[in-house]
Amino acid sequence: MRFTEFNFHPALLEGIEASNYETATPVQQQVIPPILAGKDIIASAQTGTGKTAAFLLPIIHRLLEEDTNGQVRALVIVPTRELAIQISQHLEGLAYFTSISSLAVYGGSDAQNFVGEKKALQMGADIIVCTPGRFIAHLNMGYVSIKGLEFLVLDEADRMLDMGFQDEINRIITQLPSKRQTLLFSATMPPKIRKLAQQILIDPVEINIAISRPPEKIVQRAFVVYEEQKLPLVKYLLTKTPFKSVLIFCSRKQNVKVLTRMLKQNGFTVEEMHSDLVQSQRENVLISFTSGRIPILVATDILSRGIDIDTIDLVINYDVPRDGEDYVHRIGRTARAEADGMAFTLVGEKEQNSFAAIEELIDKEVEKAVLPQFLGETPAWHPRKKSGNRKPQRKFYNRKPGRY
Ligand code: AMP
Repeated sequence: MRFTEFNFHPALLEGIEASNYETATPVQQQVIPPILAGKDIIASAQTGTGKTAAFLLPIIHRLLEEDTNGQVRALVIVPTRELAIQISQHLEGLAYFTSISSLAVYGGSDAQNFVGEKKALQMGADIIVCTPGRFIAHLNMGYVSIKGLEFLVLDEADRMLDMGFQDEINRIITQLPSKRQTLLFSATMPPKIRKLAQQILIDPVEINIAISRPPEKIVQRAFVVYEEQKLPLVKYLLTKTPFKSVLIFCSRKQNVKVLTRMLKQNGFTVEEMHSDLVQSQRENVLISFTSGRIPILVATDILSRGIDIDTIDLVINYDVPRDGEDYVHRIGRTARAEADGMAFTLVGEKEQNSFAAIEELIDKEVEKAVLPQFLGETPAWHPRKKSGNRKPQRKFYNRKPGRY
């Protein structure tokens, strides 16, 4: 599902485009419509699934529909300062072309920061991302107006309760208007979260994104490379790795076509599979592949779910999949039934953060393989901690963010 289908505000769509998001992740597909419809939600979704944008985007859109009221309009409460910083960077990126103002308020920072936060809170930033204790410290001083609050988000709620923030959360909530929309995100749903949900949510939509983990028997390896090393590496892997059937995934059909052509030119017996093929062509390609006549198939994620071919013993991700679920589904195409399988992922320089987010999601550090020497120098593995919320570049010099 593409983001244009949500009818988001044009300025928000610009931020989405600049963040390089094309299609919504499964969490986003499920969470965005009920938030836009004004519903409370309780969602079990882990980091790495795109859950941050899943709540930020509809909130920004809804806030843009009305004028600012000089008060805090949305409050996102999170357990740690790292998460507060990360979400607020994500927010700045997505809201870059809009007039929405935001502020991260977190503990552990110095007195000067506190003064800066105080000033911004007095002016009424639209969205505050905060850790509970620090926000209460400001609240107690009496200059924060939250009477006009429209959205409350509790992110990683299970972690907040584990860290003993229940009282702080209650104290904040008692000061909020009862007519508001509340969104609760939690990786797990223990009874104490259910109880909290009962207390603070009204007729919530429940969303459960269960993410499966890849089977242990799949040998996973990542190759950290420069983009231009990908093609020679794939050729090398196809030559040196013993396999019966290999499925190579690319995120874009354009890449599928180019890679297939290149491999054919290099003498490999290979076919392609993507949405530009008509049904009968797809069926023919699949028959050739399952029968073993074609040992190599290059495909988009059209093939990442559902197909059950026992003979695939190698999956190569030519690029890092969009989200953790796609990764699990892609590599799950190998090692079906009793067979063993291998999954190689080529991680380009710009894809390191996404791959690190996937590792976090599957709760496993994938071994980084050493490349053959003839490929030359490779980039160091240095993802930013957690996910990569790149701030988009400003597209137009001198352009003032504003409403449309
Ligand atoms: P989160 O689960 O919110 O921590 O997000 C994990 C990573 O996915 C972050 O690097 C996001 O910037 C990225 N992301 C979120 N939504 C999308 C999307 N629709 N397409 C591509 N990347 C996304």
